[in-house]
Amino acid sequence: MEEIKKRKVAILGSSGSIGTQALEVIKEQAHLFEVEVLTVNRSADLLIEQAKKFKPNAVVIVDETQYQKVNDALFEEDIMVYAGAAALEQVVQFKQVDIVLTALVGYAGLKPTIAAINAGKDIALANKETLVVAGELVMNLAKEKGVNIFPVDSEHSAIFQCLTGEYMNPIEKIVLTASGGPFRGKTTEELKTVTKAQALKHPNWDMGAKITIDSASLMNKGLEVIEARWLFDLKPEQIDVIVHPQSIIHSLVQFEDGSMKAQLGLPDMKLPIQYAMGFPKRLKNNFTRFNFLDYPQLTFEAPDKKTFRNLTLAFKALDQGGNMPCILNAANEVAVAAFLDDKVGFLQMSDVIEACMNDAQFIAKPQLEDYVSTDTEARAITNRIIETL
Ligand code: MG
Repeated sequence: MEEIKKRKVAILGSSGSIGTQALEVIKEQAHLFEVEVLTVNRSADLLIEQAKKFKPNAVVIVDETQYQKVNDALFEEDIMVYAGAAALEQVVQFKQVDIVLTALVGYAGLKPTIAAINAGKDIALANKETLVVAGELVMNLAKEKGVNIFPVDSEHSAIFQCLTGEYMNPIEKIVLTASGGPFRGKTTEELKTVTKAQALKHPNWDMGAKITIDSASLMNKGLEVIEARWLFDLKPEQIDVIVHPQSIIHSLVQFEDGSMKAQLGLPDMKLPIQYAMGFPKRLKNNFTRFNFLDYPQLTFEAPDKKTFRNLTLAFKALDQGGNMPCILNAANEVAVAAFLDDKVGFLQMSDVIEACMNDAQFIAKPQLEDYVSTDTEARAITNRIIETL
């Protein structure tokens, strides 16, 4: 039998929703993948448990105060233990690593992703904020280094799958589907009083807190529009959003002959994770199959951009270009954290983000250092705005 060389995976953010599901995929496909690196922010206990089970060569605990605990626990396992955010940029460069799954949340994904691309590693991209903040820079760098970026976001994986075999055919437009989240159909008046607990209850997808709030506010779709613009080299006017509450059609591509291709399936992130890690192969699995008769109606409606202003703000940031998407992203991260901390109301998140977009310094042609300083500045501005509310 032909010996298969296992693909060695570094998972940045292994304690989160995507990270834990990626480990399930690796366990199910253990003949194809092995874990080389695991990193977490502060979930030391889970990291220790995962490391003992999957035997990576190295782990990172970003929270340095927990280094000793992790190091003691893994001392006899012959696993290297690192601490601090800067270590993320080092472990992705390890020679043995074939592919880096970026499953960390927010702006924190940018620098490790750039370090991995610089080291020539393929990326399974689950951290959409990296492309929102610095899409042009990251995609240009990937091209220069000959690195593949495989989308893990379900919508972008759908588009990517639809584009397989179509490399000669220009895209007329893409349509990103959105579930609409838990507040679909609600009025501005009703949204004034919604609670954190309600916002955290997504109808179809089981995800981390930040992305769940982003889904409820439609900011997630806005960030995905920006992500798609860079991943597939599209103009903003080539990207449509349609609400599809059943989350069965994961997104569509329309070609220049008017023909549309869609990718369908039950909402389960393990599929896009597996597709990104196994590309170009479709790996046999036993995930639950879609049954048409369980879904006799697939429905579609326009997104309510007036009520859910974040989607409008994201399109505006994309149109303005430069560092504006970076400003939008930083303001949103601060606003979501404040919402989860009961410091701002659900609708106030959009007010705060818009105010920050008006106040922060615009840079038309930002370099990496500009994105770093923009992120810091926009966070400070947003925090100030929230304090004066
Ligand atoms: Mg998505």
